[in-house]
Amino acid sequence: MQGRLSRKATLLVGTAALLMLSANPALAKETGGKETSKGVTWEDIRNDQETTDDVVSWGMGPRNHRYSPLDQINRDNIKGMKAVWSFSFGDEKQRGQETQAIVHDGTIYVTASYSRVFALDAKSGKKKWSYTARLPEDIRPCCDVVNRGAAIYGDKVFFGTLDAAMVALNKDTGEVVWRKKFGDHTAGYTMTGAPTIIKDQKTGKVMLLHGNSGDEFGVIGKFYARDPDTGDEIWMRPMVEGHMGRLNGEESTPTGNPKAPSWPNNDDGTKVEAWNHGGGAPWQSATFDVKTNTIVVGTGNPAPWNTWYRSGKDGNWQDYDSLYTSGQIYLEPSTGEPVGFFQHTPNDAWDYSGNNPITLFEMEKDGKTIRAGAHADRNGFFFVTDLDKLTARDGKISKQVGGAIGIYPFVPDISWATGWDVANGRPNEVEGQRPPPPKPGEKKGEVIEVTPNFLGGTNWMPMSYNKETKLFYIPSNDWSEEYWTEPVTYKKGAAYLGQGFRIKRQFDTHVGVLRAMDPTNGEIVWEAKEPLPLWAGTLTTKGGLVITGTSDGYVKAFDAKNGEELWKFQTGSGIVSQPVTWEMDGVQYIGLASGYGGAVPLWGGDMADLTKQVSQGGSFWVFAVPNELASAEPAEEPKTSTQ
Ligand code: CA
Ligand code: CA
Repeated sequence: MQGRLSRKATLLVGTAALLMLSANPALAKETGGKETSKGVTWEDIRNDQETTDDVVSWGMGPRNHRYSPLDQINRDNIKGMKAVWSFSFGDEKQRGQETQAIVHDGTIYVTASYSRVFALDAKSGKKKWSYTARLPEDIRPCCDVVNRGAAIYGDKVFFGTLDAAMVALNKDTGEVVWRKKFGDHTAGYTMTGAPTIIKDQKTGKVMLLHGNSGDEFGVIGKFYARDPDTGDEIWMRPMVEGHMGRLNGEESTPTGNPKAPSWPNNDDGTKVEAWNHGGGAPWQSATFDVKTNTIVVGTGNPAPWNTWYRSGKDGNWQDYDSLYTSGQIYLEPSTGEPVGFFQHTPNDAWDYSGNNPITLFEMEKDGKTIRAGAHADRNGFFFVTDLDKLTARDGKISKQVGGAIGIYPFVPDISWATGWDVANGRPNEVEGQRPPPPKPGEKKGEVIEVTPNFLGGTNWMPMSYNKETKLFYIPSNDWSEEYWTEPVTYKKGAAYLGQGFRIKRQFDTHVGVLRAMDPTNGEIVWEAKEPLPLWAGTLTTKGGLVITGTSDGYVKAFDAKNGEELWKFQTGSGIVSQPVTWEMDGVQYIGLASGYGGAVPLWGGDMADLTKQVSQGGSFWVFAVPNELASAEPAEEPKTSTQ
């Protein structure tokens, strides 16, 4: 009720502000100028978590905590939070808005569906510039035309486009500085993730890092390092074992063993078809361990989904892990060489993938401080890994034995494994949960039920870590699926799955669940249930809050300690994006995109019925607590601005 009231109030004020805007030439002038603002340095990015006046990286710092030390908005006053302005992305191009905004020097850089970027005045929401990539007709994004955010460094903003290109724009004008095409979009290569800026601590070289997407079309997952000034490639690392890497324009080394023993051979000794199209795409953003100078990134599912094409003639899936897919890989920045790997789903038969970011943190356990990685996987398990082991340059890439500290379920009734042998890094798999191959003469394998489904216990939407509560806040979903195998042969540009599915509800009461996880013991400390799937990331603050959005359109704030819902606001379309917070002229703001879409409504089953009520949209919203606004600033009316 409270959310509905405040929305109405904002709309009324917004209308007044619009009138004022058109009648006041001073305002137009103020926002129309193209002053050059200061550039972003590596130090700005490295210290992003501590500095409250900007958000200059995806993850709010290289360790991806999504934590802010701001506490002006807190559990006591958030009940009074109101919308300050909203900006419409416009066009007929709506669909899913999965972006995380960058905030720097009074400007908000936000990406939108169909490979668009907007630079907005952080005060007023007025557009400074926008860029729309000219996309070919035959792009093949598997899971909606989303973009998850930009990177910023120096005087440039970087983002990936759906036709598999990386684009650098001048941050003050939006003009294209360079564009590098890195994959054949007609073969399914695409890009949806936000790029990452790091500084190689050995050479002092600043690098732009990014991967590709397209596992559902049988791409080869590749990870790239580029010179941010020119876009020139420094190195490329493929994620399928035995495929050749590149350094300074020349072949470097194959990834892992050149003979790729984790993928089967044909009778004549050549590799099976699947190895040539083996997936493993690192489609989410990397994190960076400055101390050991190591890049950390998740890798996607092996292709095809159907496990029997990657298990040898005898169907011996235990012998073939499909390295380096569905896990977390650790790379040396100077060369792109792999130094460590931990697989979340060996020979992944379910499209669980391993892409969700690995959050780097310190954990107190048994009186010791452990440098650890945390990762909530689509397969339903939460992985706490040993950062010092995984970054060790000991000549061994696989850190399966001894690489994990704890592995815990975060969703109920996981059906494919009963748990993990943590010391050996292997799951205790349940027999019969790999969808069986078709019987002779049949076109389709037996239908089995699997939990969680391929959209996962969680998915792309990032969790956050609060160093005060020492809890992770995981946007998760309780759901299952019917799963069966089908024959498949690779055909360029066609889906390469070999598996069919029907997504099902698991409970009548809910699908989405926001869960708080204690990484020291795997305890779910609290949970908050949602009727629709959760597909937005979380932000947590020193103010004792967890902020997220829901598929039915609410921005919500929860008490970080106990999960009590403290505030909500209806944005008019579903929220599948990532909130951020920053401070400007003494006032704390919270901002996020609204606009429903993403993988859930596209893949049907029970979720199609559940989500068809949600309106599409495309807008960016900014919130603040009005008392703070009034005390910190000469009063400025809230505005609603369109283009
Ligand atoms: Ca910052
Ligand atoms: Ca996939």
